[in-house]
Amino acid sequence: MASTSSAEEAEARSILERAATSSFPPLHAVHHLLSVGVCVRCILRLFGAYSSACSCSSLTALVLHSFLEEHDDSIKKESCQCLSTDDSYCSVCLGVLLPAYHQDNETEMTDGLSHIDKISSMISQAVKREGYQVDEFSLEISLPPVLAANERAARLYMKQKYGNENWFKDKTLPQQTMSVKEALRLLIVPSLEKQMNAKHGNNSFRIRLTYTHSDALQKLQSLLPNDNGRKRKTESRNGRDTSGETHKTNSICDSDKNTISESDSFIYKTLEGIRDEELCNLFQWPPEKVSKSCHLEISCVRSPIYIGGRYLKLSRNVSQSCWIIDDERMGEASVEEIIGEGVRAICRGDSYKFHAAGREDIDVRMLGSGRPFLVEVLNVRSIPSAIEVQQIAEKINNSEKKYVRVRNLKLVGSEIWTMMREGEAEKQKQYAALIWTSRELTETDLQSISLTKDMEIIQKTPIRVLHRRSPLERKRTIHWMEIEKVADSSNYYLLLLCTQAGTYIKEFVHGDLGRTHPSIGSMLGCRAEILQLDVTDVKMDFLQ
Ligand SMILES: [Zn+2]
Repeated sequence: MASTSSAEEAEARSILERAATSSFPPLHAVHHLLSVGVCVRCILRLFGAYSSACSCSSLTALVLHSFLEEHDDSIKKESCQCLSTDDSYCSVCLGVLLPAYHQDNETEMTDGLSHIDKISSMISQAVKREGYQVDEFSLEISLPPVLAANERAARLYMKQKYGNENWFKDKTLPQQTMSVKEALRLLIVPSLEKQMNAKHGNNSFRIRLTYTHSDALQKLQSLLPNDNGRKRKTESRNGRDTSGETHKTNSICDSDKNTISESDSFIYKTLEGIRDEELCNLFQWPPEKVSKSCHLEISCVRSPIYIGGRYLKLSRNVSQSCWIIDDERMGEASVEEIIGEGVRAICRGDSYKFHAAGREDIDVRMLGSGRPFLVEVLNVRSIPSAIEVQQIAEKINNSEKKYVRVRNLKLVGSEIWTMMREGEAEKQKQYAALIWTSRELTETDLQSISLTKDMEIIQKTPIRVLHRRSPLERKRTIHWMEIEKVADSSNYYLLLLCTQAGTYIKEFVHGDLGRTHPSIGSMLGCRAEILQLDVTDVKMDFLQ
């Protein structure tokens, strides 16, 4: 332990030496920032000297102070007010980058973990507790808006205090320094990768860190003017001095549209609209000591995954979607629940949504190649492997009640969902219907039916669905038909047909009191009834 910390201390000193030669202003100014409660990491940040090396846990106020003492005689060793060991937090980042700002080193001594390691261990535990399987993650950070105000006030304070000194140029207080958010990301990612044994990247598994500070927020809200008709800051801006700020504020908003709450973004907007002089009046510097740390909330979520395939429905008493009327279930089960719940359980998602390319009535079987569907599973704990997807399929296909079977089940991208929605209009469907006619059909009847090619029909909304669909007239195409007599029976026929999606087949057979024209009945000049209907194929180019 002792050797590690002395090695770390040497590293901390070399970071400071590099900063002193490259970007630090005169050291009395550095010392002044330290004395008004700015943490070492924020000091390095504000002077453009922040790098991934700054995660070094020996980089403390104490080390910086002794470095300053050695290099500037005007800085006193003893009784310097910035060395008081009270529990205050950085007046810019409120302790987000360094905890109680003198004490990162001390924490390390007690249990061998730095503050940052502690946070990543907390995150890693939260991820494990939720049961997530993770090999890549992305990190979303949301910080209290007061940090933006603090930083701007600190810069303006420096400008007021040192603006007349020769060394003070924009170069020494760069506008494009690293933000607290970027700095925190740089601190936490390596530690988190190690703790979670996972890589940081642009992944669908997102860890969100939400830092809040209720006292600071309350104070900020009481300071901010609340009328909306304020002059924009840009109107009274003096060019290059502040243009960097504008750019910065905008970029915060752009990159974090999803992570900033509405109330926070209102505060950011209001801050943007405040002129520099006004801001200096509102935020007195040096500020009061900050004695409470930020509250950190950790949450994780995974973007939805999609598992698609085709289903067969072998029962005439199972609906496609869960169908409950007045607390009473229609049919014995639903395709939606049988498949959706099977998929959800294996990937341990919070919930699922079932999307199918079209639907069939409860009493219609879905046979042949099956109907394309997608299950969208929300916030899964693990993404199923190809083998696990096969296991889901086997489980559904081998279930005791053979209501539903699945084919070609696989993990697919969300683009299939878009394709499925858009492709719905183009697809064709094939059916097999058992029909009855009021007279026995002749060979000529059968031939004339079978000669049908791309026949256009007009369908008014069927009577049986009028209560839930608006009354419309639609053109549909019957692509082809074949009809054959059922052996050893009179008046019973098997009708095979291929139609444009969205055709009401039952109505096309019996004519729906003339609302569908032509119909099998009108073509044959007799009564025609449909006894049973099966979908035998759904033509689509994907999920084959
Ligand atoms: Zn800080």
